[in-house]
Amino acid sequence: MGDLQIETKKSLLTMNTMALASTAEYFCSVSTVDEVQKALSFARKHNLAVTPLGAGSNVVLASNLSGLVVHLGLKGWESVVSQGVSTEYVDVTFAAGENWHDMVLMCLDRGWYGLENLSLIPGNMGAAAIQNIGAYGVELSSRLVSLQVVDIHSGTCSELDREACQFSYRDSVFKQSLKDKCIITHLTLRLSTEPNINIDYPALNAYFVALDKDPTPQLVSNAVCKIRREKLPDPNELANVGSFFKNPVIARSALAHVQAVDGNVEVPFYPQTDGSVKVPAAWLIDQCQFRGVRRGNVGVHDKQALVLVNYSNEGDNDSAREVLALAKEIQVAVKVRFGIVLEVEPRIYGSF
Ligand SMILES: Cc1cc2nc3c(=O)[nH]c(=O)nc-3n(C[C@H](O)[C@H](O)[C@H](O)COP(=O)(O)OP(=O)(O)OC[C@H]3O[C@@H](n4cnc5c(N)ncnc54)[C@H](O)[C@@H]3O)c2cc1C
Repeated sequence: MGDLQIETKKSLLTMNTMALASTAEYFCSVSTVDEVQKALSFARKHNLAVTPLGAGSNVVLASNLSGLVVHLGLKGWESVVSQGVSTEYVDVTFAAGENWHDMVLMCLDRGWYGLENLSLIPGNMGAAAIQNIGAYGVELSSRLVSLQVVDIHSGTCSELDREACQFSYRDSVFKQSLKDKCIITHLTLRLSTEPNINIDYPALNAYFVALDKDPTPQLVSNAVCKIRREKLPDPNELANVGSFFKNPVIARSALAHVQAVDGNVEVPFYPQTDGSVKVPAAWLIDQCQFRGVRRGNVGVHDKQALVLVNYSNEGDNDSAREVLALAKEIQVAVKVRFGIVLEVEPRIYGSF
């Protein structure tokens, strides 16, 4: 296959942050658009399903994955500075295989602002658009200009603008009509050369009230990193994929039912612009007494009920099944108690 090395029976144990033992039938790592196209043509020729893989921080993998896993290792970035209506901005194009947090820090160093609230989110640039990563009051969609993609079936390259990506909360066209249809090779973000501070998120706001200092982009990034380290387990120490469930968005009228179920307990919620409300899934799971629960190799993190963890990093074959069984147990309990369906956030690959 030209220069492209296709491996068989490749272990993905160290390539997914849930530390799941998974073997890819075929595997390759690509570092150029040309190699992406070669990999896709190999898959077409051998009639193989294609699974793109970034840093593996938002996937649950079955022990055997049939088809070709394509690890996106494209590196590099380039910037173009432009003059906006009242201020300068810079459009930065990142290759899919660059690490998200490294790029946030690189931008901060150069005085390119807008990503600081998204500091320390694991994963690579390419995957950021798949679920429109978001944290501390900011989503990727607010900065995205365009994406370069390769069509999985035809191998042709094209560009999508932000509108075409159909972004919403933890969602995009890549989870809907373009699901499994393209590989993102590059994305372009528009960053501001003037600080544009957003500390509306309650935990960030409280941090700066206590700090008694004016926020700067660097301080916001530091604050986000500190809060995240306190709340979320580091996958290098305790295997996890971050939030296992999306926060459910429900009709405001349905909130009364949740409130009624829990009597005098105040139900936390965040009003949405369309009149609906977002309820923290962690709170619902907590109410069902799952925090700290352990089932075999897996469990619910004791500080954050939204995070399922794998205590075995030695590739126990049952961990993936166990984690999905625990997720199901939580979904059933929350449904029975509150009538709310929790949707799983990471992508599940393979059959169980
Ligand atoms: C501790 C922890 C905290 C987290 N916190 C947050 C958070 O605050 N906010 C948030 O939004 N997410 C969070 N996540 C989830 C995760 O960081 C993001 O979803 C991230 O964007 C995944 O990147 P990845 O490179 O690891 O993707 P992967 O896990 O490798 O892939 C995820 C999905 O994207 C697809 N994909 C990957 N790369 C490409 C590509 N180039 N082209 C096409 N498809 C591709 C894969 O096929 C898969 O379906 C967290 C995860 C962890 C472990």
